[in-house]
Amino acid sequence: MEPQAISGPGFSITLSPHGGRFSCSTEQTVLDAAIAAGFWLPHSCRNGTCGSCHLPVLEGTVRHDPAAQYAPALPEGQCRSCQAHPVTDLVLGAPGVPREAGRRIVTTGAKVLDVQRTSRDVAVVRLRVPPQSGFGFTPGQYVDVLLKDGSRRSYSMANAPDPDGHIEWHVRRMHGGRFSCHVYDQLKPGAMLRIEGPFGAFGLHPGDAPVVLIATGTGYAPIAALLQAHGPELARRRAVLYWGARALEDLYALDDPDAWQARHPGVRLVPVLSEPDASWQGRSGFVHEVVLADHPDLSGHEVYACGNPLMVEAARARFTGTAQLPATRFHADAFIARH
Ligand SMILES: Cc1cc2nc3c(=O)[nH]c(=O)nc-3n(C[C@H](O)[C@H](O)[C@H](O)COP(=O)(O)OP(=O)(O)OC[C@H]3O[C@@H](n4cnc5c(N)ncnc54)[C@H](O)[C@@H]3O)c2cc1C
Repeated sequence: MEPQAISGPGFSITLSPHGGRFSCSTEQTVLDAAIAAGFWLPHSCRNGTCGSCHLPVLEGTVRHDPAAQYAPALPEGQCRSCQAHPVTDLVLGAPGVPREAGRRIVTTGAKVLDVQRTSRDVAVVRLRVPPQSGFGFTPGQYVDVLLKDGSRRSYSMANAPDPDGHIEWHVRRMHGGRFSCHVYDQLKPGAMLRIEGPFGAFGLHPGDAPVVLIATGTGYAPIAALLQAHGPELARRRAVLYWGARALEDLYALDDPDAWQARHPGVRLVPVLSEPDASWQGRSGFVHEVVLADHPDLSGHEVYACGNPLMVEAARARFTGTAQLPATRFHADAFIARH
């Protein structure tokens, strides 16, 4: 392998088989160093909980930060790249990552343009990032909001990338949640937020397999970005969106189902309610169980799941188990809270 050389202090990390290369200090995590250098290793939560960033260590040694409480078991010979630090030079298996570095993360101000409370607990926030900041993203990615105490919160972009720097978030007000309550109760147009990003490797993979999209609550946000950016492609692949919530009013983007359908021709929407009232005529129960009832065999499908981490994990286990979905065709973005 002839690695692409990128200079910098620390250990050298080479990505196999394509040969991208970057350096990583012992204080940095492998994932942070990779993203800072523009190499988009697979990842989602960045706090050791979701398991998306596990990578085979082909050569060298790493040490890990203490495992997160609900961290999935690490397969033999792999590292959890969001918590791994190099102890030697490394070669990591990352077949989906090209040799050339791509987009880098930026930290920038974002101006709030509009805040609409569209349901009892969801606010749709529109912001603008100065185009000269160099900020950009691909549909399905998220950004971190940097709070004054040094903590951060992640929100998925719910829109397709736009040359004028517009971004949209769907923020659910969590009971006792510091930032989401601030957004829902107090955030006003004109406010400035500090954001960093983009992050995340969630996005539509090219192919022909029919697509199942599954979301709970504001897990609809990254799916909305895919629908906006890849509508014709999703229609060609006969996409069906299963969107789960407690009650109809929690499906905050569905005030008029016919208008929704007109905006997304060729994509079928199946709302699923877990606590419907007596007048509800549609599907009810756990959203992933409704998917299984409609698709007992998912072996030829591709699935994109977003939102509640419990739903994402239950869907992953059931779809790749009983319904025979290949594990490589389950793509997820789990909204895990950081404490
Ligand atoms: C990749 C990713 C993308 C995301 N995208 C979205 C999105 O598009 N929309 C969205 O609404 N959310 C999204 N989230 C979740 C979001 O980042 C925040 O976690 C969420 O908004 C809560 O933030 P908060 O400050 O309001 O709550 P926090 O103050 O962080 O609290 C979260 C919850 O935990 C409880 N809590 C707080 N501290 C503790 C503690 N020490 N022990 C136990 N419980 C505690 C609180 O009562 C509250 O219920 C995403 C998360 C990730 C990882």
